[in-house]
Amino acid sequence: MPADPVLDPAAALRERGLRVTKQRLAVMGALAATPHSGAEAVTTAVRLEVGRVSSQAVYDVLHALTAHGLLRRIQPAGSTARYELRVGDSHHHLVCRGCGRVVDVDCATPTAPCLDPTTVHTVAPGFVVDEAEVTFWGLCETCTTRSGRTPSLQEETA
Ligand SMILES: [Zn+2]
Ligand SMILES: [Zn+2]
Ligand SMILES: [Zn+2]
Repeated sequence: MPADPVLDPAAALRERGLRVTKQRLAVMGALAATPHSGAEAVTTAVRLEVGRVSSQAVYDVLHALTAHGLLRRIQPAGSTARYELRVGDSHHHLVCRGCGRVVDVDCATPTAPCLDPTTVHTVAPGFVVDEAEVTFWGLCETCTTRSGRTPSLQEETA
């Protein structure tokens, strides 16, 4: 069983041949506490944990961990890149158009890719699909309440 990057980040780093550093642990800790954070939020959290560290150093850690498959990077349209420790499973994201909040939703199909384009063999013979990126867009409860109306149908009946 591979090490759980939330429960044992040091072991997860070692498994991938990465040196265990305070900064890397702090980045992983920040993302365990607040998944789908952007680089700025991660930098703020890392500074609280380890003191002075440049944003560039945090970017470098984010890139290295993503390249080694320890982090998943998502970038909803119109948003900065967000990072999370939940990798290798088949989950998707709900993104609120109002506040940008991102929520994980499990996919009904546990292994990626969960969707198979039916025409792939005719349009791109030999193309091996390994992931389907699905993003559900809408308004979270808070934003729906704040907008003072339910988004459904009112437009038409007004
Ligand atoms: Zn919202
Ligand atoms: Zn996620
Ligand atoms: Zn799916």
